[in-house]
Amino acid sequence: MPCRIELASRDPSAHSLTPLPAPLAWIDHGLDVLAASDLLRPHRVRHGRQGARVVLDGRELLNCGSNDYLGYAGDVRLTKSASKASCAEGFGAGASPLVSGHSMAHENLERAIAMLLGVEAALVFPSGFAANSATIPALVAEGDAVFSDERNHASLIDGCRLSRASVGIYPHRDVATLGRMLAASPQCRRTLIVTDTLFSMDGTIAPLADLCDVARRHGAILMADEAHATGVFGAKGSGLVEHAGCADGVHIRVGTLSKALGAAGGFVAGHSRLIEWLRHTARAWIFSTAHPPGVAAAATRAIELVGREPERRLELLQRAQAFRERLRARDLDSGGAEAQIVPVIVGEPAAAVALSEKLAEAGFFVPAIRPPSVPPGKSLVRASLSWLHSDDDLTRLADALVG
Ligand SMILES: *Cc1c(COP(=O)(O)O)cnc(C)c1O
Repeated sequence: MPCRIELASRDPSAHSLTPLPAPLAWIDHGLDVLAASDLLRPHRVRHGRQGARVVLDGRELLNCGSNDYLGYAGDVRLTKSASKASCAEGFGAGASPLVSGHSMAHENLERAIAMLLGVEAALVFPSGFAANSATIPALVAEGDAVFSDERNHASLIDGCRLSRASVGIYPHRDVATLGRMLAASPQCRRTLIVTDTLFSMDGTIAPLADLCDVARRHGAILMADEAHATGVFGAKGSGLVEHAGCADGVHIRVGTLSKALGAAGGFVAGHSRLIEWLRHTARAWIFSTAHPPGVAAAATRAIELVGREPERRLELLQRAQAFRERLRARDLDSGGAEAQIVPVIVGEPAAAVALSEKLAEAGFFVPAIRPPSVPPGKSLVRASLSWLHSDDDLTRLADALVG
């Protein structure tokens, strides 16, 4: 039974039953400006289980708008593990992990993550966003420097801002420019380089081997965010660092349990002394309630399944490659996409929304992505492919994209 998605409100102005209080009246203008620029976002409600198909506004569509890359988000095996742990330990974690929220389920999860990545230790956060925004300020501060790819995820950007270190933004995947920026930067106490490994809007992959080289030459810390690669890349499924053979050169790996693993939460993994340091300094770990033990148990189960079902990631990546080749043969612009995230770049926000609507008419849910998620003039529709999609589904999608 496919799930159903509908707009929470069809008419955004329907919310304004009463005028805004005077100190907030500027919000009306802010929303009007967004509307005039085709940047109002729909607020959608999903009914039913995650799966290959969704019902959107009464139409059954192929779901290309979820990060459920391996089909585990709706897998009853995760639900069973979650309910078992919830029954045993109660639903809520009750406190931050520092105080008393760190249960046996969380301990098992951290061990499973460390094993999967082949590192000494891991630390679980309530979300990947929290992991990034807490870890960067735990590593660098005023007087330090952090260098960040221009297409990095919002949580890395916020982490950089929160740290108060000086921030250098380097062009997307441009290690030569990064090297020049590092050479030109004044001597600081510490230097950190941060990058997504698989970029969430473009489907491009970071040049990890070159980043390791440049970090080594400049004595910099290298931190890689595997949010979209965890479970999908690497012989063991730990991500692109493993796939690229760069485990020694990447000092800190972040990942999420909420995308391919189908559960929720984020993690940081690496040397046990690094993890010990984060337990004393990462504010989102110290001051935020641990996520529920049932969620930790579901994530542990997903890691086990990633180990047992390698065919899911292999098949997903094969189908994604065939799909990208079909788009290329049809002269569609997917930029430098190299994985299961496949954008079609169209330019203006209105064009992306129009294409997304046209695809919905043809049976596909492929969301429009607009600024600030992408730079101005680079609006796109983004197909997130899942192991649940068949070859036939993706052939039909490629045809529909041509129109
Ligand atoms: C989704 C995402 C995150 C945040 O992970 P959540 O667990 O969803 O909070 C962090 N980094 C990147 C690159 C992401 O795409």
